[in-house]
Amino acid sequence: MTEVIDLRGRLLIPGFIDAHTHFGNAAAWLFRISLYEVHGEREALEAVASAARRIPEGLWISGGDLGAASAWAADAEGRPRPDPMRLDIRALDAATPAHPVLLRRVDGAYIANSLALARARTTPGEPDPRGGRIERDPATGEPTGVVHGRAAEQLVDLMPPSNLELQIAGARVALADLRRAGITTIHDVARLEEASSRRLFHTHVERSATDLELFRELQRRGELTVRVYAFLTLPLWREVLAAGIRPRSDEGLIRFGALKAFIDGFLMDEPYADDPDYSGSFTFRFVDERTMAADIAGADAGGFDPVIHTIGDKAHRLLLDWYEAAIRANAPRDRRFRVIHAWYPSAREIERIGRLGLIVDVTPQQLMRNLATIDRHLGPARAKTAFAWRSLLDAGARLDIVSDWPGSFNERRPTPLAPLENIALAVMRGWHPEQRLTVEEALIAYTVNPAFASYEEDRKGTITEGKLADLVVLSQDILSVPPESIRATQVDMTILGGRVIHR
Ligand SMILES: [Zn+2]
Repeated sequence: MTEVIDLRGRLLIPGFIDAHTHFGNAAAWLFRISLYEVHGEREALEAVASAARRIPEGLWISGGDLGAASAWAADAEGRPRPDPMRLDIRALDAATPAHPVLLRRVDGAYIANSLALARARTTPGEPDPRGGRIERDPATGEPTGVVHGRAAEQLVDLMPPSNLELQIAGARVALADLRRAGITTIHDVARLEEASSRRLFHTHVERSATDLELFRELQRRGELTVRVYAFLTLPLWREVLAAGIRPRSDEGLIRFGALKAFIDGFLMDEPYADDPDYSGSFTFRFVDERTMAADIAGADAGGFDPVIHTIGDKAHRLLLDWYEAAIRANAPRDRRFRVIHAWYPSAREIERIGRLGLIVDVTPQQLMRNLATIDRHLGPARAKTAFAWRSLLDAGARLDIVSDWPGSFNERRPTPLAPLENIALAVMRGWHPEQRLTVEEALIAYTVNPAFASYEEDRKGTITEGKLADLVVLSQDILSVPPESIRATQVDMTILGGRVIHR
């Protein structure tokens, strides 16, 4: 049966491919709210009310850290911290009568609503637990919602640990976000939970990977509405092979072929490790250089492509050394090696990235941070090769534009899924505008290039007869409107494999 849809002048494009996401975090964070930047009772209550609208009734809403931004500002200026924020418990109960709420305050105390206190069977007149205190109204003896110490820990213990059903509840909302954004494929940072849980990693960042079982279960239930290119864990490449997973193989909508690792950190003040004045520690995210080089060569020999988080100049230099060594040591093959972020390569590393024809995953949304600080840290010469998207393209690299959704709570700003915002930022960046992309290049970075990165250029990324019908209808032709209006473009329709999944 064929349905004919008249687009009335709107733009049909291939479905967006977001080549770097953390789906499991998006599903888990559904239940959490970020309160760092909240500046008063009204804003805090609004955040709770908005969480209540997206979270199924009866499930817990939690979050932190209330009052953090003003406390840290006071610390920085050497002033005493302001009094901890208080929320009227009646107003908090009104924000959601149907969810237990437990919010952490920057001073370590918690604020609970009446439903959370009721789950703990806290009754008026009951003595406080040893080492804890439930604040009470002196006139009525009723709890005010503020709980301290052991009393707060008891409430935290009441929250159910994450389990598959909670992950599925979060995943349903995350999948709806993807459909609304016009994203038909994600390249997701994933893990084999069983293998990962037997390994002690240097940091807990690897926990930001999605348990592969979540995708498999969604697929079993017929609820998966996005194709997934799952990056598994590079240091566990032997376990990945032992689990029977092969590069360029598919399990329904789930596909394999790339393995992810980190070299260096994210918000380094001193990204230039090759600078003699360098004071950072860039190696904290892998075991040692020899092991990392061997893992890359081993994964490549097994037919997997490394996808490596790389920020500073030394990290780039090492990565390129390891990539070149693996290519020299192993048999020739079609490779799709990748660099994630590529914030601060030097001019020489940009040239090497281009020569190897690497795929570079960049996030214009990450350029929202304080750019004056970047300029100050880097100095004028290095700033020229930072976030140098145009230079990378000119050198011969392929670019993917990616969201890194849902971002990091450390950045205090969750990253929304917003392909059109990302395209607008790539096209209109004000900081070093010579590095801007054209709208067409940005679209290619969201479709053609990520399809190539997963060896699926014969299946998706363009609108061609014989390919999967993963398509998106945009409310206007972003190739012809003024760049300032790109951001306002709506995703009117999302089609996955010929089926309309959003309209
Ligand atoms: Zn990431």
